[in-house]
Amino acid sequence: MLARKISLNVFACNMGFHTEKERHVREKETFEKAYSLGPVLGSGGFGTVYSGTRRRDGLPVAVKHISKQKVTEWGQINGVSVPLEVCLLKKVSHLDGVIKMLDFYDKSDSVIIVMEKPESVKDLFDYITEKGPLGEDVSRDFFRQIIQSTMDIHRAGVVHRDIKDENILVDMKTGQLKVIDFGSGAFLKDTVYLDFDGTRVYSPPEWIRFHRYHGRSAAVWSLGILLFDMICGDIPFEQDEQIMKAEVAFRGRCSAEVKDLVRKCLSIRPSDRPSLEDILEHPWMQIGKTCVRRSSLDQRLVDLASATSSTESI
Ligand code: ADP
Ligand code: MG
Repeated sequence: MLARKISLNVFACNMGFHTEKERHVREKETFEKAYSLGPVLGSGGFGTVYSGTRRRDGLPVAVKHISKQKVTEWGQINGVSVPLEVCLLKKVSHLDGVIKMLDFYDKSDSVIIVMEKPESVKDLFDYITEKGPLGEDVSRDFFRQIIQSTMDIHRAGVVHRDIKDENILVDMKTGQLKVIDFGSGAFLKDTVYLDFDGTRVYSPPEWIRFHRYHGRSAAVWSLGILLFDMICGDIPFEQDEQIMKAEVAFRGRCSAEVKDLVRKCLSIRPSDRPSLEDILEHPWMQIGKTCVRRSSLDQRLVDLASATSSTESI
């Protein structure tokens, strides 16, 4: 695998070439020919993300450069060794609530992921930094989308392991959220995980204390942190001791229902945490839905009333 990585100086994922030389020349052209790079959008643990444009049609894209030196987990696509992040994104990229991967390139010391970039977009960290606490209605709408995307991601056999505001994009035109950054993710399994490379302040007490956790219940903990962040404008815990105690102190006015949901997600014992399905059924999550249900019920009552009156008039 290592030899292949070194000998394939530059490799484009979706093309077949005959000779090493031809591959080198034609593939080297490919990324630069296909895309132009703009300013940096963000950088973090694994590399740098640039704004870019697809030359053929002007499509706005985001281009993530991942330094191979920093990659510890590798997978394979079509027999070629790629960072696990690329494999995982490929598995979930078709989902509505996940950013779409358009292309990837394997260079000698980095890998390039080309992703869609919604026209007017902000990550949720910047969004909260600018707007402060989001209010319960917006938080509920965002949280419902994130829960549904997380369920879809799990159903596709992947666990993200770094759900947090920086890794969620808000489309400012449509209000649709997209999950990004599978750089700390893994294939979902039912057995225990003993490794973690996500964000410590979003990690659960069982990781801090025992260095072990299960994928689904740890995801629910991080979702509890995220919900608190949306409601209160910042995360609840900074220190390991605070995470292990899990005493949640709300800031500002919050409903009893949302406090209850946050506290349930932030249960110290993983088995006390709700499942993603339970979260969707929680009374706080039902609030918007009740209105919809009531209005459709009202509509049905109106329909029924008019049907009755027309029958009466006959
Ligand atoms: P890292 O692994 O370094 O955290 P991310 O994939 O999370 O990298 O990207 C870093 C930042 O770049 C994100 O927090 C976000 O602000 C921005 N970003 C990433 N992907 C996109 C995208 N497809 N469209 C717009 N912005 C993006
Ligand atoms: Mg990130």
